[in-house]
Amino acid sequence: MILYKTEEEIQLIRESAQILGKAHGEVARQVKAGIKTKDLDKIAEEFIADHGGKASFKGYNGFPSTLCISVNENVVHGFPSEYELKDGDIISIDCGVFYKGYHSDSAYTYPVGEITPETMSLLKATKESLYQGIEQAKYGNRMGDVSYAIQKYVEDRGYTVVRELVGHGLGKSLHESPEVPNYGKRGRGPKLQHGLVIAIEPMVNLGTRNIVQENDGWTIRTRDRKPSAHYEHTVAVFEDRTEILTTHKYIEEVFNI
Ligand code: MG
Ligand code: MG
Repeated sequence: MILYKTEEEIQLIRESAQILGKAHGEVARQVKAGIKTKDLDKIAEEFIADHGGKASFKGYNGFPSTLCISVNENVVHGFPSEYELKDGDIISIDCGVFYKGYHSDSAYTYPVGEITPETMSLLKATKESLYQGIEQAKYGNRMGDVSYAIQKYVEDRGYTVVRELVGHGLGKSLHESPEVPNYGKRGRGPKLQHGLVIAIEPMVNLGTRNIVQENDGWTIRTRDRKPSAHYEHTVAVFEDRTEILTTHKYIEEVFNI
């Protein structure tokens, strides 16, 4: 069942998303060669706590940290560790904030120092595919229109879309109906109605779309170990417009790819 949100509820998600956006910005400042990924986690955890929020992911089904940190061939659900970032890496940082009873969720993939032009193109295409999807996330369209727009944009450029993991509704729970696949057919799936709040989150691979789960029980990586990128926004659909509730503004003051 899809839980459509009231204006009051969306306002709370908006507030949650503001804290989240700023937490991402604090982390972005420290994304550089030499930092341990667990130190990035600490920055986010403290920032969110200082602003009255709670990390959505920590403790979720036993997930151990505030951030999901997925480097290079890791797609999503990696966790912070002693690993030190190095020049040429890419790092996907996914974070959720729970504030006044509501979740927000967003992700961004960063280059660390100089990366290959091939990988930079992957990041740019993945980010743009998110906005292509958001453009179709409008009142009266169907979910398949969003999914198709993402898949088409990605595949036209020779990349592949991860299918096993999808975007999702969110609100009082981090993951609600409906699913938001990053592949699909136009005109199919649920109609997008007033009050729908969803996280749209393309996960895009440079090589094949196949993924495997590491033995840690969480980390998802590409089977061929080629890089993967992930960008995510939480958006709200209104009858007369669609609003991106989360923001990458504070990230993009530091990085803009
Ligand atoms: Mg996320
Ligand atoms: Mg999500």
